[in-house]
Amino acid sequence: MNIDGKLTAQTLRDKLAIEVAEFKSRYKIQPSLTVIIVGDDPASHIYVKNKVKQTQEIGMISNEIKLPIETTENHLLSLLEQLNNDDSVHGILVQLPLPKHIDESAIISAINPDKDVDGFHAMNSGRLFNGEPGALVPCTPQGCVLLAKQHLGKDLSGLHAVVIGRSNIVGKPVAMLLLQENCTVTITHSKTKNLPELCKQADILVAAVGIAKLVKADWVKEGATVIDVGINRITTNEGATKLVGDVDYVEAFEKCGAITPVPGGVGPMTIACLLKNTLAAAKNSLQSR
Ligand code: NAD
Repeated sequence: MNIDGKLTAQTLRDKLAIEVAEFKSRYKIQPSLTVIIVGDDPASHIYVKNKVKQTQEIGMISNEIKLPIETTENHLLSLLEQLNNDDSVHGILVQLPLPKHIDESAIISAINPDKDVDGFHAMNSGRLFNGEPGALVPCTPQGCVLLAKQHLGKDLSGLHAVVIGRSNIVGKPVAMLLLQENCTVTITHSKTKNLPELCKQADILVAAVGIAKLVKADWVKEGATVIDVGINRITTNEGATKLVGDVDYVEAFEKCGAITPVPGGVGPMTIACLLKNTLAAAKNSLQSR
């Protein structure tokens, strides 16, 4: 079966809209997200537009700061310092990638971890690693686990999860989240030997690679839950461009128990989880009042 990410994301946004309204009426504070975008990469501008729109739709404040491509690292750092110290700003997101002359890791490190709604700050990775409460967890991995639960129910314990990919933004955090859910987790990557054999053991298979249709049907165990994070642009025989995942969806669909489509699977969940993190950051801010 197909796991509908659009519908699951809509359900999450509806739930968050209610929670935001309750938060506002109880504390007289409107949760707010500030998104900074540097340069004019068209794809980044589309992502930011969607983030801003969805933030406002559930009743939160969204501020967008657009900066020219020649913005210096120092300018960005001083802007972050200002936003870190502004109590009316609960979530801060710097849209990646940044222009080459700006050191991304220096920028991520400069965001107040309690406002770091992307969850990329080392403090948040550490909190996730240690299983500490209050971690702001990267959005796409959160979305992956929610989609797996959508099909399998709340209890994932004992299931074997195989994650393909070990990036800091998807592979590693999704592996940590699945471990917290008491899965037995195998992390695989570009140097892994016998990848198809390992994948075939997975009850939950998460593909976060960036290679179109890498995962074939014969890598998938009968009845497995497949979460496809990959977003790959391919040109069809007719010359049109099309988005496909890291899994050969058509082939794998017959074999697996459930699979997320691309587009319409993990993608919509990423923004919904960003909104969830923004509300969590607003709640966290109450502790420092
Ligand atoms: P990345 O390039 O940082 O990491 C890719 C990982 O794949 C690496 O850890 C690498 O070891 C592994 N890998 C590469 N070739 C491999 C191979 N042949 N076999 C096994 N492993 C291999 O990418 P990322 O940022 O983690 O993103 C992965 C994919 O997910 C991309 O397609 C990206 O566009 C997509 N993505 C989607 C969302 C979303 O919201 N849906 C969010 C983030 C990333």
